[in-house]
Amino acid sequence: MRVVVSGGGGFLGSHLCEALLRRGDSVCCLDNFSSGRSANIARLMPDPRFECVVCDVTERFRFTGDADAVLHLASPASPADYERHPLETLAAGSRGTENLLRLAERHHARFVLASTSEVYGDPLVHPQREDYWGHVNPVGPRSVYDESKRFAEALATAHRRTLGADTGIVRIFNTYGPRMRAHDGRVVSTLVRQALDGEPLTLFGDGGQTRSFCYVDDMVRGLLAMLDSRRPGPVNLGNPVERTVLELAELVLLATGSDSGLRFLPLPVDDPVRRRPDIGRARAELGWSPRVPLEEGLRHTVAWFAAERLAARPAVGRPT
Ligand code: NAD
Repeated sequence: MRVVVSGGGGFLGSHLCEALLRRGDSVCCLDNFSSGRSANIARLMPDPRFECVVCDVTERFRFTGDADAVLHLASPASPADYERHPLETLAAGSRGTENLLRLAERHHARFVLASTSEVYGDPLVHPQREDYWGHVNPVGPRSVYDESKRFAEALATAHRRTLGADTGIVRIFNTYGPRMRAHDGRVVSTLVRQALDGEPLTLFGDGGQTRSFCYVDDMVRGLLAMLDSRRPGPVNLGNPVERTVLELAELVLLATGSDSGLRFLPLPVDDPVRRRPDIGRARAELGWSPRVPLEEGLRHTVAWFAAERLAARPAVGRPT
């Protein structure tokens, strides 16, 4: 297959491109590198089955050759990014999704949308099942991201219903692993960076809010399973093991061997208190469930962050 991956230069996208190549597919990555990094795909560039087109998917862009499948991941995705780029975030979910749906339809290709658990907002039901409609503040500070993804889901569904497009929607819950950016404002990367820097780990409220953390390799398996199915979704993909952020901080301290303390700050506006996917549908329809425990995933993540820091440090005693 030739698979188009928008956002293929980002954290999740680059792992996905790698996995597609590993199983024998060709990949065309579309990315404007607004939050992605060329280093993420540097290893893939020499592979003749890999192509990267630097473009903004919300505008007109050049695309040549065939497409058997389109995975749309391009969007500002971390709080730091979508707060800085609210209009670009709305455009990625609206115009970006429309452009990639049209590309898929021109090639009779399957289209998979990377949606998010944020469509549930600050959920009133727990755990979250796909038939829960969510509790989102449409004018709150996170709304550009939440509503952009909700609109993208509606658009993909309308294309399926009215044009018969082969679309699938996955709702991704917190995913972590190597290649997250140290300053992206997400909880795992922030705590790992602070622990490695010997800074206090910042927790909001009393740290008792819960999240469920899925290791990137598990998420990539889930995305491939959705790609290979003809299921419309939406399907939740995430790790159903719920942990408090305080527990996460303690595990990070253990994994890094850091003696950083903890610093408690007031809860941000609209920050969800609980988040846990019901993955019954993913198990039944895709035969998917996560395998990597948080302790193990954190070890890989910490090792990667530590290696990055070492590589970035100037060599001591070497003439400059
Ligand atoms: P990321 O920021 O690392 O990746 C997003 C990629 O999209 C980046 O490479 C960025 O440069 C690119 N991009 C953004 N706008 C673009 C545009 N207009 N044109 C072309 N490229 C553009 O984030 P990620 O964590 O890898 O997220 C990937 C997708 O998964 C996103 O759609 C995100 O909403 C979704 N998601 C991720 C998580 C998670 O925990 N990582 C959770 C829920 C949903």
